[in-house]
Amino acid sequence: MQLPRYHRLRQTFYRLEGSRCTNCERAFFPPRKLCPDCRSTNLETYLFAGSGTLYSYSQMTQSPRGFANVGPYAVGMVRLDEGPLIMAQLTDVEGVELRIGMPVEMVTRKIQEDSAHGYIVYGYKFRPLFSNTTEALLLSPDVVATT
Ligand code: ZN
Repeated sequence: MQLPRYHRLRQTFYRLEGSRCTNCERAFFPPRKLCPDCRSTNLETYLFAGSGTLYSYSQMTQSPRGFANVGPYAVGMVRLDEGPLIMAQLTDVEGVELRIGMPVEMVTRKIQEDSAHGYIVYGYKFRPLFSNTTEALLLSPDVVATT
């Protein structure tokens, strides 16, 4: 992603900010100005909670341009609790057996780094949410600090 575009969309990517129709209450991400369901234009800014379930996923072995430092990574489609389906990079998945339907939560992580220009782009990723605390501690040391 080019830097000007990132600055314009920063709120959207950093906070998972979408919109919600005040008429039928359907939520959208990214934000929309017109509700495709009821044709209402009364949409308000809506901040998603960042929790959902893994809808599908795949392992990427080829990094896209600008992501060469990332190496192989997992990308998933996440069904947010509020309804929208979004695509995001998955993180903290090392040693984790990914399953369709497993609970995931949003975390803010480094997305892209351009060492030549000295900027780092942060944005949302999703990580598995564990119900078993011991398992979470073993696999993801920063869970303690952030929850
Ligand atoms: Zn609507």
